[in-house]
Amino acid sequence: MTLRAGDLAEAGLVAAERLGELRRVAERFQVMLTEEVAALIDPADLHDPIAAQFVPSTAELATSADEQADPIGDERWSPVPGIVHRYLDRVLLKPSLVCPVYCRYCFRREQIGARGKVLGRAALDRAYAYIRERPEIWEVVITGGDPFLLTPRRISAIVDALARIDHVQVIRFHTRVPIVDSKRVTAALIDALATEKAVYVVIHANHPRELTDAAKQAVTRITCAGVPVLSQSVLLRGVNDDAAILEQLFRALVAMRVKPYYLHHPDLVRGTSHFRGDIAEGQALMRELRRRASGLCQPTYVLDIPGGHGKVPVGPCWLDRDDRGWRIEDSAGGSHRYPPTEGTEA
Ligand code: SF4
Repeated sequence: MTLRAGDLAEAGLVAAERLGELRRVAERFQVMLTEEVAALIDPADLHDPIAAQFVPSTAELATSADEQADPIGDERWSPVPGIVHRYLDRVLLKPSLVCPVYCRYCFRREQIGARGKVLGRAALDRAYAYIRERPEIWEVVITGGDPFLLTPRRISAIVDALARIDHVQVIRFHTRVPIVDSKRVTAALIDALATEKAVYVVIHANHPRELTDAAKQAVTRITCAGVPVLSQSVLLRGVNDDAAILEQLFRALVAMRVKPYYLHHPDLVRGTSHFRGDIAEGQALMRELRRRASGLCQPTYVLDIPGGHGKVPVGPCWLDRDDRGWRIEDSAGGSHRYPPTEGTEA
């Protein structure tokens, strides 16, 4: 069962007198939570990190001057419906724009939801033809929306169609389903991922409390089928902008056999400025994380350059060059020369 804006008071997640203002938010942006997510929220905690991600807030009605409807330029790089071809060796394929939950900071919040469409047969065939005609496409990232909301039969058909294209070597699914709607990770869904090509699943989690036993079991069903799982997280003010929380999150993911892949700086999406800190704050958190935790627990901190210029790592940077060579910083803040020369250590 899912909850919409009108259900939030009855579910005890917001006070009844707030429903009017939240309906105004829901008129602009999709609102939906799964029961699994709702059960994690502590309504008595005004700063609950799960509520902050999924329960709408009137802060979303404010748009700052630099925020955009399509901050990462999907439209600009979409040659045919459902395909985004921003990088040379890979494309996004978006078979559906529906999600099990609607995250309040979502970078595609103005494209996804009931207003969005599921790609029909003809559009999917056109998308496959686009991929087939371009031998440089090595990887297809199936995203949306959430592709794990499709039926196993449809997922299997997509995997089969892509696997038949010789130059496609890697099929990657991006999904929040194992974390927010774990019972959908059924044996049939896992069977649908089976192919001789490399299939990866990238899950999305931002706070260690999202990694419930049910979520862990769902992820284990995927990894036990031999499918590698990575994770992506968004650095969100008031949710996980704290080194101890990030450490807990990434340690828990690695212990579930999930490799933290990306930590995204939040995109310039309309109505989300309350979630965005400064890049310097993110760099300081990544430095602290490097000091605290194993290399396995280190995602790459990335920014999607506004306007569709792609994703790049944004630090922190551990080295600097001057006329004497390289100066390298260690994770404890010490400074060193490379190559080392006697008497030059800071
Ligand atoms: S699951 Fe992903 S695409 Fe869907 S609302 Fe959340 S961030 Fe956006």
